[in-house]
Amino acid sequence: MNDQTVSRALFNEVMVPNYNPQPIVPVRGKGSRLWDQDGREFIDVTGGIAVNVLGHCHPALTEALKSQADKLWHLSNVFTNEPALNLARKLTEMTFAERVFFCNSGAEANEAAFKLARKYAFDHYGEEKNEIISFRQSFHGRTLFTVSVGGQEKYREGFEPVPRGITHAEFNNLDSLKSLISDKTCAVVMEPIQGEGGVIPADPEFVKGVRELCDQYNALLVFDEVQTGVGRVGKLYAYMDTPVVPDVLTTAKSLGGGFPIGAMLTTTRIAKSFGMGSHGSTYGGNPLGCAVAGAVIDEVSRPELLEGVAQKRALFEEGLEQINAKYQIFREIRGKGLLIGAELVEKWHGKAGEFLAAARDEGVLILVAGPKVLRMAPALNIPDEDIGAALQRLDAAMEKKLSGS
Ligand SMILES: *Cc1c(COP(=O)(O)O)cnc(C)c1O
Repeated sequence: MNDQTVSRALFNEVMVPNYNPQPIVPVRGKGSRLWDQDGREFIDVTGGIAVNVLGHCHPALTEALKSQADKLWHLSNVFTNEPALNLARKLTEMTFAERVFFCNSGAEANEAAFKLARKYAFDHYGEEKNEIISFRQSFHGRTLFTVSVGGQEKYREGFEPVPRGITHAEFNNLDSLKSLISDKTCAVVMEPIQGEGGVIPADPEFVKGVRELCDQYNALLVFDEVQTGVGRVGKLYAYMDTPVVPDVLTTAKSLGGGFPIGAMLTTTRIAKSFGMGSHGSTYGGNPLGCAVAGAVIDEVSRPELLEGVAQKRALFEEGLEQINAKYQIFREIRGKGLLIGAELVEKWHGKAGEFLAAARDEGVLILVAGPKVLRMAPALNIPDEDIGAALQRLDAAMEKKLSGS
């Protein structure tokens, strides 16, 4: 039975108002479908913001969580544990990385990466080499260090003073990076596809240029793959679909498929700068999170699943083009794999949230990425029928919204 003593209205009475959640309260999920307190069904193409990579309550993940729950929940890093060792082995076998640091979120993974970049530069080149360059509109998390590295000023405003030694170049503009990079730069940080910033893929030529500049100035290249990682673009990690390999990679969101976990991946040589006692996390690498993430990696790395991503993207693109042919509402449909951005035509800039609400009223849950882009980040195993139904409902939402305005 649903708990009728709690409702959306209670949120405003008992929660800090840093979120403004949707009026529905989902209580149950299966695959890419959700049901709210009143039993209304929704198709979920938000994927929990690129987290529920295998949909809700995937049997393999539920099984991994339940069987680990009966064995061992937590030890602290005074001990290692089997699920953490197994997961680290998988991640190092499947990527460029040779070493893994576990934590609990994307921001924590980035915090570790930025600290490691500074420490590595300090160890090898001295304290002057401490500057971090990232890109405008980028998003790297909500801790003070990660909002400072992130390229969206609104997330820093009012929280000053913020950490120093951070500058922001223009994304996809190599000259802009050239004008900022120097021997003092310890790291360049980028998302292979800017997610929160509007679903903007990095040009392959740009990525190559960033790698070359990092090599020239002995700066580490950090890829924030918190949103693009774990199969989202049809490869296990998005860097595998670019001409370069980063020095440090951060991953979270889909890694746990809905259970909180994050990780920072790097090479043996760079990892040495995080010596005994230099960094840590109480929950980082806990058996529950690592057991679930191990099951996620097993499922996602299956070739059928990764290959299905392109086919499912094609279905979304086709449907969105059809909607666009009817209503002339999108300026551009972009992204890679199942990270899909649809920028609204100028007339609707600033109104993305209204389309999200209209879609919800028709029973399909979508995301926005800023005020002018609709975003979808569904489960990678979303059934084709659910894609069809989601697009139908989106079409109906557009029709209602546009006729009512
Ligand atoms: C979501 C996100 C983060 C922050 O992850 P949290 O788990 O919310 O801390 C960092 N970087 C990118 C690219 C993200 O999309």
